[in-house]
Amino acid sequence: MPIRSCNCDNICEICLNEALELARIYIDILKGNLGLKNIHLVYSGRGYHIRVLDQFIMKEESELRGEILKYITCADVPTNEIPLGYTNLFINHFVRNIFHITGREKVEGANTKLLKDVIKNRNKIEKDDNENYQLGLFRGKIGPRRYKNLLDAMARVNLSMVDGKVSIDLKRILRLPSSLHSKVSMKCVEVKNLENFDPFKVAVPKFVEEKM
Ligand SMILES: [Zn+2]
Repeated sequence: MPIRSCNCDNICEICLNEALELARIYIDILKGNLGLKNIHLVYSGRGYHIRVLDQFIMKEESELRGEILKYITCADVPTNEIPLGYTNLFINHFVRNIFHITGREKVEGANTKLLKDVIKNRNKIEKDDNENYQLGLFRGKIGPRRYKNLLDAMARVNLSMVDGKVSIDLKRILRLPSSLHSKVSMKCVEVKNLENFDPFKVAVPKFVEEKM
């Protein structure tokens, strides 16, 4: 993930936790905003796969899959600032990512200086009278042109938080639960309890445990 709190080279407990948190957010949107029901979460060995098995979606072409992907990740800048529906989702992703930026990210279209400025100013970003964040509230902090650049950059960041190619490609073979991810020696397992799943407890194969 381009935005994460840790600085590890491969995967660690921190980024896996953040990936799980994101998976929960996407699942909420798939269920709450798109009305999908048959949703499974699988820990792949080094990340999370959300598998949607609702019949009507299984038949769809990759174009619609791409649209769904863009919707749930908030890959487009909203066309209005009324904090409802898609705009509301975008605000949530935007704020979450703003507070997770470390300044080390390489985001196409967003220079390091812009990201550093955002970090410097993020604690000044205020909530409105109803304790909500609103898109327009950020504009006054960094100026209108940089604000637009920031929105565009964050939309790209939003999309890059998931592996988009796998999500829309109909020819990919998905990792099967119980199989082993050979690069990291972790097992692929279905996540039954989204709230307190811990891969280091359930996905470490016995032969690795014995070596530790
Ligand atoms: Zn990490």
